[in-house]
This record gives sequence, structure tokens and C-alpha cells, in this order.
Amino acid sequence: MNMEEKRAPHVLIFPFPAQGPINQMLKLAELLCLYSIKVTFLNTHHNHNRLLQFTNIQSRFARFPGLFQHESISDGAPDDHPRPSGFLPDLTDVMKMDSHLRNFILNIRDDLGRSPVTCIICDGLTTFAIDVANELRIKSIAFRTISASCFWAYLCYPHFQDDENSDEKALTVPGMENFYFRRRDLPGFSRQFRENPLFSVSVLEFCIKETFNSARASALILNTNEDLESPFLAQIRTKFQKVYAIGPLHSLAKNLRTATKDQTHNHNGLWEEDRSCLTWLDSQPPKSVVYVSFGSITVLTRSQLLELWHGLVNSGYRFLWVRRPGLVSGEEDSDITTGERGFVVKWAPQEEVLGHRAVGAFVTHSGWNSTLESMAAAVPMICWPNSADQPVISRLVGEVWKVGVDMKDVCDRSTVEETVRYVMGGGGGEMGRSTAEIADLVRRSVVEGGSSYSDFQDLVKDLKSN
Ligand code: UDP
Repeated sequence: MNMEEKRAPHVLIFPFPAQGPINQMLKLAELLCLYSIKVTFLNTHHNHNRLLQFTNIQSRFARFPGLFQHESISDGAPDDHPRPSGFLPDLTDVMKMDSHLRNFILNIRDDLGRSPVTCIICDGLTTFAIDVANELRIKSIAFRTISASCFWAYLCYPHFQDDENSDEKALTVPGMENFYFRRRDLPGFSRQFRENPLFSVSVLEFCIKETFNSARASALILNTNEDLESPFLAQIRTKFQKVYAIGPLHSLAKNLRTATKDQTHNHNGLWEEDRSCLTWLDSQPPKSVVYVSFGSITVLTRSQLLELWHGLVNSGYRFLWVRRPGLVSGEEDSDITTGERGFVVKWAPQEEVLGHRAVGAFVTHSGWNSTLESMAAAVPMICWPNSADQPVISRLVGEVWKVGVDMKDVCDRSTVEETVRYVMGGGGGEMGRSTAEIADLVRRSVVEGGSSYSDFQDLVKDLKSN
């Protein structure tokens, strides 16, 4: 191998082992390959196998010969060990993956047939990878897959943690003055947070700590854009050396795929997609269906599921509902049938569903990916946030972007019914206008001249400047 080859950029992408981060980082990997940057995508063994089983990852990246490698390291638990939500390893195990990561990079360095890693793009929740990179004198960039607003909220935690009486009061935190955030809009204070076994106080503390630790990397990537979150991005830029706001990544990737006439259907899921729902949607009238999905991690109780189900059925609208395995906590839900107007799948091709002409609204847990996908497709949202960044996002959806309704704590059948009717009925007119405007902003940000497009070009330059 000659010296020129050795200096070629080679990026190691290391996502947090969860659906949302894997989804976003695979899109980033694809974009970097399109710009001729070599990528090694490093998963846990468990998720690596799931991607091989359920997605077209191999054929999808086959068009980049010599540029993409999909590899894996142990997450500390045997493959048949039960994982919460089916794929998420124990957090304490994740934090112990640093030695596997170090050995993996050293093995590549010692392999004369491979070019050494020149930059690690790690998840902002696995900042031990930044320490490993520093120790091995490799550049590192943190990619945090939450919204900029939530990232900033984590950085501001010391400001509002003691303000016990501010459930309804506006919180005055730098960058948030113009937004009427209440305490219960923040990660960790919502009612759902206290009830959700996956998000304890120690998980919240971990998220805050990792947010601060991300500043040790040479740059930060966020899957957002200036038009959506400029006040928060401006604040984050005061604390981080460089911030690349390159989102929505799925729109950027779609745009570049169209430019290169690539028709590949990209499935990033850790479950098998059921595409029969697209055929069902084909037979429905335009904007007549409510799409319902709570992402990959959220767990509902049986009574929450029942309230949602009654609300949907009573609204009189047709619905397509994703009930992934494990959605309902420890209980059997097969007796809750769909009725005449419903269609249920275990996992849907969500981007395609949201882009389908028959879908008129999205009942969502306000995960950041789902929110971006809905905004890009101009589908208004009915938000029932659960935890993590979701209460912040749903507040912005309802109050700032005005592309949906934030149901927050209340999710009884009559609220669901009323909200579905309101949103499916046009949301008072204003919501239709703002969803179209936001979709247009998103579209313009990812084409040449747009902010995300140019931040992405800067990131590519950064990665090529070794
Ligand atoms: N998703 C999907 N099919 C489904 C449900 C979800 O492809 O049936 C995808 C969705 O498109 C999104 C991701 O899973 O990209 C969920 O990410 P999000 O940030 O919304 O929620 P999380 O799973 O992290 O809570």
C-alpha cells in the first residue's frame, strides 16, 4: 500500500446501539460513501446480525465497492441474553465497550491490507470513544442524534433543576427565552419519565454527563438545521468548537440519491418491515388514514394502549398502527383487535408510509427521527411524548412550528378522539399552512445553497483534511 492510500480518509462510525442512532448514522455513512470517503460502520454483534437479517444493508452498500465495511464488536452480553426493547444492551455494558473499540482500531492499524482510521464519528452517548480516539491520536467528532433544543436543554440542566414550582411557569434559560417551556416539557420531568422503567434518574444523569463530554471532540454533528432550530444552535455554538447541522439526514440522503438517479429502497430497521401496509394504503382515499407509531423503544401499559385504541376507533377515522413486539409492557395485547377501519403491522416502512397520499396525520411519541420524517412529508402530528427528548420536541411541534398538537400528559380516549378529529379536520387551517411551510424549509435546507447542504460540504472537507 502506498503512502497516498494510507492518508486517504477512513471514518469509523460508531452508533449507540439503538434504532434511532443506527438509522441516522447509516444515512451519514451512505452520504460519506457518495463523497468517496471510506467508512467502517461498527455495531454491536447483536445489532449487526439484526441488520443483516432484516435489511438490505449488503446490497445497498454494494454500489460503493471498497468504500464500506460493516463490522461489529461485543456489547458485553451473549447474543441470546435478553435485551430491553429487543436490541438495547445494558447501559453499564455499553460503557465497558471501550476496550473492544480500542482493540478493533488497533487491529485495523496493524492490518497492512487496510488503511488506518483517520476519524471516529461516535455517538454523543458513547463519549468514551472520544477518549479512545485522543489516546490513539485520531480525530473524533461526536454525533448526537437528538434535537438541538434537547441537546441545549441538557446543557442547561444546572439552571433549572431546583425550580420545583415551575410546572406551568416559563423557564428562563439562555436560548429558550422566546419559547414558553415549562418544567414538564423538559427531559426527566414529564410524568411519563417517572413511569418509564427504561429512563431512570441515572439514565437522565448519564445523558446530561455525555452531553457535556461531547465537547471533548473536535466537532459536533446534529441532525437538524438552521431554519428549524437556529436559537438553540447559536447557543450550542458558544460552547462547541464546530457544529455541523446537517439534517434532516433522510432528506439530504434522498436528495443526493435523486441527484445520482439511485432508486435503492433503504431499510435501516432492526425489525422486518411489513410492506403489506403500503398496499392497504393504496386502497384508501387521500389523507384519510391516521398513522400511529411509538418508535423503537417506547413501552406502553395495557391501559394506555386501550385509551389510544378507543380514542382512534371513536374518532371514526381509518388508522394504520405499528405494534412492534414489546410495545406493551409485559402484557398480552392480541385481544385488542383493529376493528373494520384499522390495519396493524409489527414494523412499517415509515418514511414511505408518511410520504403516502392516504396518510393525513401521525400519532407519534415525538422521537426526533419520526418528527423530522413527518415534517419533511408535511404530515401534521398528534404528539404523545414519552421520555428523553420527546417532551421538548412535542412542545416545539405544538407551540413553535405549529405542525401538530402536544397531548403531553393527557392521553385518555376522549382527548385522543378530539385531537384526531381536530388534526384530521385541518387543525383550524393554520396547521395545514405551517406543515406546508416547514416541509418547504426542510426541502430547501438540503439542496445546494441550503444550510444543511453547505454544513455537510464543510464536514466532508473536514474529514478529507487529514
Ligand atoms: N420506524 C420504522 N418503522 C416503524 C417505526 C419506526 O421504520 O414501524 C423508524 C422511523 O422511521 C424512525 C425510527 O424508526 O426513523 C424511530 O426513531 P425515533 O427517533 O422517532 O424514535 P425512537 O425509536 O428513537 O424512540
